[in-house]
Amino acid sequence: MFTVKAYAAASASSPLALRTIPRRHPTERDVQIDILYCGICHSDLHTVRDEWHDYFPTVYPCVPGHEIIGRVTKVGSAVTRFKVGDIVGVGCLVGADHTCPNCQQGMEQFCPNAVFTYNSPDRYGTAPVTYGGYSTAIVVEEDMVLRIPSGLDLAAAAPLLCAGITTYSPLKRNGVGPGKKVGIVGLGGLGHMGVKLARAMGAHVVVFTTSPRKTEEARRLGAHEVVLSSDATAVARHNGTFDMILDCVSAQHDLNVYLRLLRTAGNLTLVGAPEKPLSVAAFPLFMGNKTLAGSMIGGIAETQEMLNFCAQHGITADVELIPIHQVNQAYDRLLRGDVKYRFVLDLAPLKVAD
Ligand code: NAP
Ligand code: ZN
Repeated sequence: MFTVKAYAAASASSPLALRTIPRRHPTERDVQIDILYCGICHSDLHTVRDEWHDYFPTVYPCVPGHEIIGRVTKVGSAVTRFKVGDIVGVGCLVGADHTCPNCQQGMEQFCPNAVFTYNSPDRYGTAPVTYGGYSTAIVVEEDMVLRIPSGLDLAAAAPLLCAGITTYSPLKRNGVGPGKKVGIVGLGGLGHMGVKLARAMGAHVVVFTTSPRKTEEARRLGAHEVVLSSDATAVARHNGTFDMILDCVSAQHDLNVYLRLLRTAGNLTLVGAPEKPLSVAAFPLFMGNKTLAGSMIGGIAETQEMLNFCAQHGITADVELIPIHQVNQAYDRLLRGDVKYRFVLDLAPLKVAD
């Protein structure tokens, strides 16, 4: 084992603070990565504050971060796909059994032996749980490492590893493309990627936001129309017209409003993960044979496909790049919806010799 510097939360109520954490020496199948950038996903904040306790209780210390971009510094003897110096990405997954039915269908995220990048039991026994990308280096099995296509701005590409794949996968699964009308609810990290991706897929894109200050921005990001969700009349004008709506909201809100907006057999997919359950009325759901669905990140092959799609279309996130010691201020702003549109941590300041 060796140690690296990281930002960790010691409890649900403590701010993130500098500490050292262990990493395993690379095995023959591992890649060691010097982390350059790591995005801040709202899931990091939910986890740090143990808001998902009933489903995914947090083990402390917690080192979040699953939107990782870095440079390969070591490879194990059996590694074939990467070499020292390659620019790579790591998303929400660092392990899977690769043999179960889910893995065989490219859905490693649902593998019974999936290992998430943080707060997941560490199969190697390096620490009680895995530690994520708010750190200077990470060691990951080759099979879970993504190749970052050249030409993408590296800091702005970091959020593709979670926000990108989480929105790409359900849009693609639902056949989003020319002639389809797609709604994106919540213009945060996920939502703004949803807008860019749905637009690049050729759909007519409508954003629903609670923030009046974001309406112009939404158009710049690619929305054809923007609706303030507080304006019931403006919202109702779209009743019965959407093929698909992607709900990217991190807090309590009324799903039934969006079910009403779907056309017959339309699909409302939830990717946002509010702390408490949301209520669904039967009538807006069954009148029109509608589907309420969920979607969780995406598998490794699909994540690579998304990265290639983004390179082809020149898509990255709009980011605010900040030094890692500002992470706590960033969390406060994220909670207020005050970010354009993803914070990305610069790890360089942590690497200066002390
Ligand atoms: P984010 O950047 O904080 O964006 C969330 C957006 O939701 C805000 O920008 C805001 O948009 C809207 N919002 C916030 N509070 C609201 C409220 N009370 N009512 C209505 N709208 C509200 O978060 P994120 O990183 O995009 O993540 C969004 C959610 O997805 C989180 O719950 C996260 O944990 C979850 N997530 C799920 C997956 C998955 O695999 N399913 C993956 C990653 C993240 P406006 O200002 O435009 O209203
Ligand atoms: Zn995430």
